[in-house]
Amino acid sequence: MSLRSFLENMEKRGEVLHVKDETSPSFEIPYIMKSFDNEGPILLFENVEGSKTKVVANVCGTRNRICEALGVERNGLYQKLLEAWRSPKKPKIVEDGAVKEVEESDLFKVPVLTHFEMDPGPYITSAVIHAKSIDGNIENVSIHRLQVLDEKHLAIRLVPRHLYKLWQMAKEADVDLDVAISIGVHPAVMLAASSPLPFGVSEFDVANTLLNDNLCLIKCKYVDAYAPADAELVIEGRISANKEVAEGPFVDITGTYDVKRKQPVVEIVNVMHREDYIYQALLPSGVEHKLLMGLPREASIYETVSKVVPKVYAVNLSVGGSGWLHVIISIEKQLDGDGKNALLAAFAAHPSLKHAVVVDSDIDVFNISDVEWAIATRFQACEDLLIVENARGSTLDSSADQETGLTTKMGIDATRPLTKPKEKFERAKIPASKHVEELTQKLHVLKY
Ligand code: MN
Repeated sequence: MSLRSFLENMEKRGEVLHVKDETSPSFEIPYIMKSFDNEGPILLFENVEGSKTKVVANVCGTRNRICEALGVERNGLYQKLLEAWRSPKKPKIVEDGAVKEVEESDLFKVPVLTHFEMDPGPYITSAVIHAKSIDGNIENVSIHRLQVLDEKHLAIRLVPRHLYKLWQMAKEADVDLDVAISIGVHPAVMLAASSPLPFGVSEFDVANTLLNDNLCLIKCKYVDAYAPADAELVIEGRISANKEVAEGPFVDITGTYDVKRKQPVVEIVNVMHREDYIYQALLPSGVEHKLLMGLPREASIYETVSKVVPKVYAVNLSVGGSGWLHVIISIEKQLDGDGKNALLAAFAAHPSLKHAVVVDSDIDVFNISDVEWAIATRFQACEDLLIVENARGSTLDSSADQETGLTTKMGIDATRPLTKPKEKFERAKIPASKHVEELTQKLHVLKY
């Protein structure tokens, strides 16, 4: 249940593209990653300039691969996540793991990528970080970007959520916060780490449930924190109680530069890795970034909206909405007004959500033209539009107030009104005989 075992599976399915030519971690690998961004294969860069280490990218780049990793069909994905959130289970702690094979302290040997033109330098973007509260009672695991400052220091972006809270608690006691920074872990661990769980639930416990009780952790050597025993690379560090630096600018999920902020410094204590470790890269604002952040939120939206309407068919935090700001939900409604309640539930389920569209079950939420058609033929702005001003949204949205996070939310109820006959909203069909169906298929194979 490691990244490696998943890659072996994907190799057998022909989902891995091997890049044997030499490529540089500075811009070249990110450029190739971007060109394969949409539904692309896993990329394995085997000849990385200035390094003996291979770089793997786009591991969780498609919905199908994520389902594959969790052993579920597309329509069972949200249930699988929701069930794991409800039944976290402590992983086994083991003495030894593959990640302990080599110990070194030189971070500069790791091929960390520099992604975009105005980036201040290399950034680690796939790191899963574990920490405990200083009294040892609370554990947290989450994904954070890390800017490489020098071979001994990183800057960490702490959005005011759980790890930030643990750091604040340590800061009040004037002690540094021990962290284990794991890179190259099974996709289930990444999904658990980006799930919206309550403070106090360890995301490793949820990952363990997702992995059918097969997650093993090791205790770090120098700090009081834990990491998956079969991770590719683990950095042991301490988040300083008082040292902060200007972090960024960094390209976040929207593909624009986030603002520069004062953020804490991580002092690196130790680096350990597998003998032939693979470095996992993740392109900021790429589809993989959107899926990892968005999928767990889709599950939350699915669950919350399901409580207010008879049935939710599908949820899509769309790629165009950065996998974070826009959602399309297909529902079954009983009464007019259910559409608006579904919109309100979606905004409650995902506080960063800005625009939401609800459609009927005949609309494919993953087909944007279909969604637009529903808006064109089933929506009246004076009746079906919902606007909420000055609500808390995402600071990643350039059009919002990025200091306070205040934004305007808009909901579009594009379900057909029940007051008019159903037929008026149905797409006209052309009758098809078996003969014409077969002929059409043949013509498409010829592709002229
Ligand atoms: Mn948490």
